[in-house]
Amino acid sequence: KVSVFWFRRDLRLHDNAGLYHALKSGYPVLPVFIFDREILDKLEDKKDRRVSFIHQAIHDLQNQLRQSGSSLLVKYGSPSEVFPALLEEYDVETIFLNHDYEPYALERDEMVQEFVRSEGVDFRTYKDQAIFEKNEVLSGAGSPYTVFTPYSRKWKEKLNTFYLKSYPNEKYFSNFLQTEPFIIPALEEMGFEKLTENFSPRIVEENLILHYQEQRNFPAIEGTTRLSVHLRFGTVSIRELAEKALRLSETWLNELIWRDFYFSILFHFPQVGKGEAFKREYDRITWRNNPEEFELWCEGKTGYPIVDAGMRELNATGFMHNRVRMITASFLTKHLLIDWRWGEAYFAQKLIDFDLSANNGGWQWASGSGCDAAPYFRVFNPTLQTEKFDKNMEYIRKWVPELNTSSYPQPMVDHNFARKRVLEVYQSGLGKK
Ligand code: FAD
Repeated sequence: KVSVFWFRRDLRLHDNAGLYHALKSGYPVLPVFIFDREILDKLEDKKDRRVSFIHQAIHDLQNQLRQSGSSLLVKYGSPSEVFPALLEEYDVETIFLNHDYEPYALERDEMVQEFVRSEGVDFRTYKDQAIFEKNEVLSGAGSPYTVFTPYSRKWKEKLNTFYLKSYPNEKYFSNFLQTEPFIIPALEEMGFEKLTENFSPRIVEENLILHYQEQRNFPAIEGTTRLSVHLRFGTVSIRELAEKALRLSETWLNELIWRDFYFSILFHFPQVGKGEAFKREYDRITWRNNPEEFELWCEGKTGYPIVDAGMRELNATGFMHNRVRMITASFLTKHLLIDWRWGEAYFAQKLIDFDLSANNGGWQWASGSGCDAAPYFRVFNPTLQTEKFDKNMEYIRKWVPELNTSSYPQPMVDHNFARKRVLEVYQSGLGKK
């Protein structure tokens, strides 16, 4: 008999909750990863960076597991086909895995659980990717928080060393199933192209976190950790990071709490992940939704240098600095009056750190429809934002080298005109005077 550990967005051997319990189950542990066709078949870009990132992380896991004489069993298919085959092939006692709060994942896990239980196999799930999840942080009245500040206050009150403790998985590595190496399918076999980018694990200096508060808003410098993709796929442990944050920077800790907060919003209000505005009255706004203007925004040709720099950074690298994410999202929704869902979908396609909860939270925040809304009348002024956060235009010049030439476009819309227009449209949609 074996225990199975099913890796998903927790691609590491150390400090991994579900894996720890599997290793202590008393049966040899067969580690499994599925390249899920249900997800991969929907990706249009065959050079998708996320698929390459995962592929590389899977190879890293494989190398580590070989050192313990074990091997990762990697399947390519739909979980509804993979599990029946797996239970045919192995005598499985229990399947261990970590929670995932996205609507697709919840449905998938429910379906797999129902099937394996019907076959007499136990199915055990654990909290791993958040410090607090589901109903762990609720208001005094027992309802989920819908505003960040009181949520974060409660989060901090509840925190103690127990929640930050690492799971000592390495003590039990000898409990992995000893096998001959399994082969990992090549990206090409799954219809994807291999990228040359190297997504190796990131080492973040404590110094960066100590200076986080002063530096985090300036896109020209590396003042933020760029750990988002590693948090997304679990190549780092949130407990280790939160422990560091607690020691070094409350501002940075707050960012990690935003992450838990948006997981919790998606968990308690799954409709936001299915296209609904958190504040329903925002669905009464009449968006202009001009496809040509949307295209100019996507390509970074709006004539607003900070917006264009951000979009070009995103298109070229799959990353965009948080300050610039806020500026570009505000520009699309407020200056161009394009539905936040269009922007959300574009980011979802391009961001290497794409996470349904944070992306949806960020977009709804920018449009004003979110749970912790920026007031609807706040319209970022791209010129003032540039003066504050990229005064020497270093970030802009990096991404918009033709800035002072005739080939750079004029602003596609006048700021004052756009500001007046959005206020009128929002006021009339929201029924405000
Ligand atoms: P750091 O500043 O070093 O922060 C550390 C970690 O905290 C991040 O890696 C991230 O996991 C978390 N974090 C920071 N800010 C937020 C936030 N506002 N909400 C949730 N978690 C946060 N973040 C994503 O991880 N995936 C997304 O798809 C995503 N889409 C966004 C869309 C918009 C419109 C906006 C305004 C923000 C979005 N963010 C998203 C949040 C934020 O921009 C990124 O997490 C951050 O830029 C990642 O850089 P970093 O790792 O250097 O962050």
